[in-house]
Amino acid sequence: MIFTEEKIERFNSLVKNAKNIVITAHKSPDGDSIGSSLALYHYLKQEHQNVQVCHPDKAPHFLSWMTGFDEIVTHEEKEIEVERLMQEADLIFCLDYNSPGRIGKMDDLLAQSTANKIMIDHHRDPADDFVQLMFSDPATCSTAQLIFELIETRSDLSKINNDVSQAIYTGIITDTGSFRFSSVTPKTHKIAAFLIENGLEHSTIHENIFDTNTENRIRLTSYALLEKLVLVRELETAYISLSQAEQERFSATKGDTEGLVNQALGLAGIKMAVFFKESDGIIKISFRSIGNIPVNNMARNHFSGGGHRNASGGKHVGKLKDAISKFVTILPNFVEENKSHFE
Ligand code: 5GP
Ligand code: MN
Repeated sequence: MIFTEEKIERFNSLVKNAKNIVITAHKSPDGDSIGSSLALYHYLKQEHQNVQVCHPDKAPHFLSWMTGFDEIVTHEEKEIEVERLMQEADLIFCLDYNSPGRIGKMDDLLAQSTANKIMIDHHRDPADDFVQLMFSDPATCSTAQLIFELIETRSDLSKINNDVSQAIYTGIITDTGSFRFSSVTPKTHKIAAFLIENGLEHSTIHENIFDTNTENRIRLTSYALLEKLVLVRELETAYISLSQAEQERFSATKGDTEGLVNQALGLAGIKMAVFFKESDGIIKISFRSIGNIPVNNMARNHFSGGGHRNASGGKHVGKLKDAISKFVTILPNFVEENKSHFE
């Protein structure tokens, strides 16, 4: 039980005594970081006057329909305003990340801030030395689900209006592959049932998120699968890479390569998939696996990253081809070490 009476009391008093609340979430936002941020934002606004969402960078356009999306202030676009808001804040929420390194250039602002900090997160191995209050549960599918459970524990279910509801639902479906990952529990479905019983139009949300692709995105995906997919069948691994130039050819925008790695994982006989993406001089790497294959170990030990057992990320500073050869070199050992999970 993470929402203990004692911690909730502490939460209540921190919120009550705060003048300015800022909600932060990790860099390269996804549906859960935006969903949990906006859910908490719309919820806390009902009891507090000054709540602001500050993120390192802007979210992909497939989330732009969400209520409150345009009220998110990003460091990428409004550096000075974010600096001011972070300095004025006396309570900062850290959502959907487990260490200060995950908020990009906002990490200094967080470190310098004297505000109380509350983490709500579901990543493994949280660093607890940068927050005063921590709600962390790696077994929960999404931070959005934790926001629901927080609201529920505070006996505030009546405050789940449509804005809160759509944000929670978005976080849950984007972090669970629409209710399919093993992190989904009966509780996840009970939450969805509650939201739908209370008027949530769930199918519209799926359409807004998944059926709004641009032609460029579809063509970029097709190109990546046709020309760039590499299969290492004997090691049950597949990988895809895209250079900056290839992305530019299809005028790729933020989020256009989201989910691409899962398509590689969808191949029969493939248990691990990796996507290498060149962006702004660094190579961002996404790892996915099925079953017990711990790709978070690979991300942490070799690519300065981390994440969940079946979905992790990391980076390589250098050339795209070097990132790929580093991976290809360590792959046989990784498979050997985790032999039982590959069988
Ligand atoms: P994605 O491949 O979608 O970018 O990231 C998948 C998951 O890996 C994220 O939800 C996050 O938990 C983790 N992750 C991605 N990039 C990093 C990173 O640079 N460092 C750490 N610690 N985790 C990451
Ligand atoms: Mn998440």
